[in-house]
Parts: sequence; C-alpha cells; structure tokens
Amino acid sequence: MNTEQDRWSRVKGRLRSSVGEDVYTSWFARMDLESVQEESVHLSVPTTFLKSWIQAHYAERVLTCWQAEMPEVHRIDLTVRSCARHVAPAQEVIAPVVKTSHDTIPPGLRTDGRPAHELRATAIAPVAASHDAIGGSPLDPRLTFAGFVIGRSNTLAHAAARQVAEGRRGDVVMFNPLYIHAGVGLGKTHLLQAVAWAGNSGSERKVLYLTAEKFMYGFVAALKIQTALAFKEALRGIDVLIIDDLQFLQGKSTQAEFTHTLNALIDAGRQVVIAADRPPSDLESLDDRVRSRLAGGLVVEMGSLGEELRLGILKSRVAAARAHHASFDVPGPVLDYLARTITHNGRDLEGAINRLLAHSKLNNVSVTLELAEREVLDLIRPQEPKRIKIEDIQRVVARQYNVSRSDLLSSRRTANVVRPRQVAMYLAKTLTLRSLPEIGRRFGGRDHTTVLHAVRKIEALMSKDVALSEEIESLKRQLQE
Ligand code: ADP
Ligand code: MG
Repeated sequence: MNTEQDRWSRVKGRLRSSVGEDVYTSWFARMDLESVQEESVHLSVPTTFLKSWIQAHYAERVLTCWQAEMPEVHRIDLTVRSCARHVAPAQEVIAPVVKTSHDTIPPGLRTDGRPAHELRATAIAPVAASHDAIGGSPLDPRLTFAGFVIGRSNTLAHAAARQVAEGRRGDVVMFNPLYIHAGVGLGKTHLLQAVAWAGNSGSERKVLYLTAEKFMYGFVAALKIQTALAFKEALRGIDVLIIDDLQFLQGKSTQAEFTHTLNALIDAGRQVVIAADRPPSDLESLDDRVRSRLAGGLVVEMGSLGEELRLGILKSRVAAARAHHASFDVPGPVLDYLARTITHNGRDLEGAINRLLAHSKLNNVSVTLELAEREVLDLIRPQEPKRIKIEDIQRVVARQYNVSRSDLLSSRRTANVVRPRQVAMYLAKTLTLRSLPEIGRRFGGRDHTTVLHAVRKIEALMSKDVALSEEIESLKRQLQE
C-alpha cells in the first residue's frame, strides 16, 4: 500500500485513540482521504451534517493528529463527497440519486495515479417515483432484501423488516414503529433501504426513506412553510416513513416536528420504521414521551456479525462484483481469512472486497492470500470492548447486594441501598461514556452533583477498603463478560 495511505491509517489510529472508539465511529468512520498536497490535506465525508459537526468540534484535533505524522501540514480541507460519489458531482437530492453498483473504489486506491473512474460501472437509475415527492434520501441499489444475508444476529430484524415491506395499503400495521438498533456497519441502513426498495417497486404504497439529517434539513423546512392543513395532506400520502440514524436528530424544533410526525402517522395507522445506533431509552436528547412511543412498537437489536454471517456477506459481495467483472474471483481460503480477521463490521467487509477488486483489476493480478493479507491490514482491528448499558449495571449491582433495581432508583436513603446505589453510579461513570447529568437522570432523576459525590465517595473508599475494591473488580468482570 502506498505511503499516503499508511499515513492516513496512522492518523486515523491517532484520532481513534484520542477521541475514543464511540466518538470515532460516530463521526470519523466515514471520513476518507482525498489527497495530500504539501501543506494541506483534503478529506471528505458523506454529508454536510458530518462536515459541519467535525468542523465545529474536531477541526483542531484532526489537524493535530495529522501534524503528529506530517509536521508540515497546516491546513485541513474538509468537503462533502457526493452520495453518488463516483457518479455525479454533489447535489441536493430531490429525486433519488443512485450509487454506482458493485465497484465503488476505496479512496485508498484512488491515489495511485490511475483515475478510479476507469473502473466505474454506469449507474442505472431505477425509477422510484413516489419517493421524491417530499424529497427522500438516495437509495443504494445494492441494499435490497436479495442482497441481505441472514444470520443469527439479524434474523428477527430481517423478519420484521420483511413483514413491514410486504404490507399492503390499508393493512393493519403489526408493529409500529419498527425500531431497529445496532452498532455501526451492522446492516441497519441495508435493511431500511431494502424496505424502501420493496415498497417502491410496483407496490401502491408510498414509501419515504429519510436520514435524520434529511429530516432535519429538508423535510422539516419544507413542512414549516406549509400550513398545518397542507402538512396533514402531505402526510396522508405517505404509507411508510423510514428514518435512518435517528440518533443524529437534534434541536428542539426538529424534535417537536418529529414527534408530531410520528404521532400523526402512527395514529393514522401508517407504518413507521426507524434505525438508530442505540435503543430508544438511550436517545438522550428526546423527551420521555417520544422515547416511550418509540419503544411502544417492536424494538429489535441486531448484534455483531458472526463469522458465518461475515463469510456470507463476503460471498454475496464477490458474487455481485462478478456480475460486472467476470474475471474477478476470491478463492475460498482468502474468504475464510477475511471472515476470520475482519470482525468489526459490514462496511469493512465491503471495503476489503472493493480493495481486492480494484487491486486485481488495476494491476491485473489474481487475488491470493498474500495480496489479501497485505491489502486489508488496516481493516483488522482489535475486538471492540463490549458496550455496557446502565440497565445492566443496575441489574448486576442489585443482584450482588440483594436489593431491587427500583430500590436503586428510589429516593430511599437507608444504608443498605445507599452504598449499592453509589457503587452502581460509580460503575456507570467508569464503564460507560454517559455524562453525570445523564447518569443522574437514569438513577431516578438525581442531580449530577449527587452522581459526582457518589463517584468520589466510592473512589475514596476503594483506596482504603480492599474488600470493596475487590467487590467492584468482580462486578466489572461480570459486566464485561
Ligand atoms: P449500518 O447502517 O448499520 O451502519 P450498513 O447497513 O450501512 O450498516 O451496512 C454496512 C455494510 O455492510 C453495507 O455494505 C451492507 O450492505 C453490509 N451488510 C451489513 N449487514 C449485512 C447483511 N446481513 N447482509 C449483507 N450485507 C450486509
Ligand atoms: Mg447506516
């Protein structure tokens, strides 16, 4: 791999350790290197929202990480790459724009002197007429049910999505909303878009797929200039509303509009499908009533991709690529190697196949284990530590001290609940990324100073009380298992 990409990998490594895995995956996972020119580095992200967020919050940090690798860098240019990044220049999406199929070239390979478009297949834009009435987000033609591989971690989510997709106009809606949550790259967008495609192709239902960003910037703005009546009229036309990445929904007025839309649609018996990176209870910026409405339908989590599922995804990617590049093949042992080592998410699996495809095409070589090992080195990451939830902490602590979870949340101040409560708050602070106010809220609406007091108290006790610190270590182990 060329040195620019090596550098970029190292910069990403620095960023990841500097901001932490969660922040990294939320904001930087989709950032790509476009080019490096003397004193400036050109990076790109897929959306305006990501761009402005990174600029507002992490500009310095990104620059510092670059300077650690290349002291001569003095400027970072961040741009939004088109959603159809290899097809058309960036544009505001009114009608659905469709991504190029199968051979999106990873940015890493666009720096080796050969223009990536040599490998591009022309996108065929399927008609999704109903989709653009209010301005849906673009749909990727690969993200259909046909291309979705089913495994243990996604069986339920897949079945629910299928059920929703097969509904007819006027059918009684079974679960509303359908709420799917999972970490980055585990197939949320794929499933949601599969529902959108199924609904758009030939069915009489109007399906609208929106990212939360699109909802914020497009939908709400459009609705605001209409009258309440026109708003209701527009809503009546939608049979299925799909919102992706709900965790990005921000701002009081947007949330009010979202709540309004959600209630109106559900009450009218229209289907709502939502994806987010966390369960409804953890959507901190939404108020309790919305959270409980979201939790009131069917909430399904998709777990991490097992090895078998990873292998299935790799195979389906190779098959898809072969439709356009018949000579491309990835031998079984290479697939096994990739499935075994790239454990993190589906995006990396896709990236690995893209790289092998680009490499074998550009250099006219066949794919070997050696090539694969070299090309995907940076996609192999150490296993991410388990995401621990506050509820789990409360449950484990309650069990350990033989109190109930509601005791922990209650206002009771007897010694037998005060100490376990403090231990649980301490664990919440040390094992999760939640803020003190958030932890306070999740412990029966306590003030953040109470949480801070608990954390300090337990720290102080642990330094002298060996039994307590062993107890806490054991709790941590139980939670991390
Ligand atoms: P998310 O929206 O959860 O971050 P995506 O839906 O964008 O994840 O998935 C990331 C990549 O992994 C996509 O290329 C997607 O097609 C692929 N992928 C994830 N899960 C599956 C699956 N079960 N079958 C086929 N491809 C999958
Ligand atoms: Mg997604």
